[in-house]
Amino acid sequence: MKPIPFNKPFIIGRELSLIADAVAQGHLSGDGAYTKLCHRWFEEKLGCRKALLTHSCTGALEMAAILCNIQPGDEVILPSYTFVSTANAFVLRGAVPVFVDIRPDTLNLDEELIEAAITPRTRVIVPVHYAGVPCEMDRIMAIAEKHRLLVVEDAAQALLSTYKGRALGSIGHFGCLSFHETKNIISGEGGALLVNDARFAERAEVIREKGTNRSQFFRGEVDKYTWMDIGSSYLPSELVSAFLYAQLERADEIIAKRRSICSAYAMQLAPLQQSGKLRIADFDDDSNGHLFYVLLDSLTTRSKLIAHLKAQGINPVFHYVPLHSSPAGRQYGREGSRMLVTDDLSERLLRLPLFYEMNAEDIARITAAIREFFID
Ligand SMILES: *Cc1c(COP(=O)(O)O)cnc(C)c1O
Repeated sequence: MKPIPFNKPFIIGRELSLIADAVAQGHLSGDGAYTKLCHRWFEEKLGCRKALLTHSCTGALEMAAILCNIQPGDEVILPSYTFVSTANAFVLRGAVPVFVDIRPDTLNLDEELIEAAITPRTRVIVPVHYAGVPCEMDRIMAIAEKHRLLVVEDAAQALLSTYKGRALGSIGHFGCLSFHETKNIISGEGGALLVNDARFAERAEVIREKGTNRSQFFRGEVDKYTWMDIGSSYLPSELVSAFLYAQLERADEIIAKRRSICSAYAMQLAPLQQSGKLRIADFDDDSNGHLFYVLLDSLTTRSKLIAHLKAQGINPVFHYVPLHSSPAGRQYGREGSRMLVTDDLSERLLRLPLFYEMNAEDIARITAAIREFFID
């Protein structure tokens, strides 16, 4: 039987012709016409103050850490159940990641555990919208305001998800997006920093352009450009931006397709949930169908189910090794709460294949194989 991969990068429309157009325009480095089109798309569609494309979400998180003015010994509150870049970007500035447990329903930072983890050194909270499902942003922003902290949303998985009608990534002081080929909207590697607080807009441009005021120079606001601040090269080439823009043009369609795949999975697996064999991811209309997971009763069941599905050419994947128990997490970070939910759920979670070109037969084959596993 034809193998079903976990993920499959895809082209939806004009990606290659827009790349050809970028080449024809003769501007291949960053911040040409396609990068500007992407910036405007994010600013209009998400309602962020300023969008800046980066080479990755990792790069956007690093820029956010610089903009937060992190100093050695400062503390940053984040979940342990996340990708390494959420922590690494701050560790690179000398910060101590302080890990807080997640909620069992959304697998997002448990907002009720945040305040107990705050110390005089705390500077930033980094909510991660796992699976594109929104964190409890009203509560998190209120805690941040009370303790004068900044909020960096790791919205790598959350493009076009909303929280109370507002786009994820546009609520904190900063939002970070990813267009890595495993995300919903892709450009191979790619990301964006959303700057939602105008105070940081100008410095963000400088940090992204190697610490120079080249962006102002190109706009004719200064007559030469020079070294102004620390910085690095965070911008993508026009080839990447052209590819990304072609996907953004069709973004609503991509999200709708992914949501429909999630709904089909949920419907077909509902009987197994009712009989208590597994728990399925619980999504509302406000999330973007980024990933579909099931929670099994134990690590053993998960390992057996993976083997069962792999034998039929189906490739599910578990997710993060919690950062608090990883070698670097132990070296650089500390636990700001007990890690009961993180330790428990990380061993039992399994992500099912989910990609734009999946069809109804693929989904039916996968859910049939899962049913068969539980019936035997
Ligand atoms: C994918 C991802 C990242 C990193 O994105 P890159 O674009 O690959 O750098 C960061 N955080 C989370 C939660 C992610 O899922």
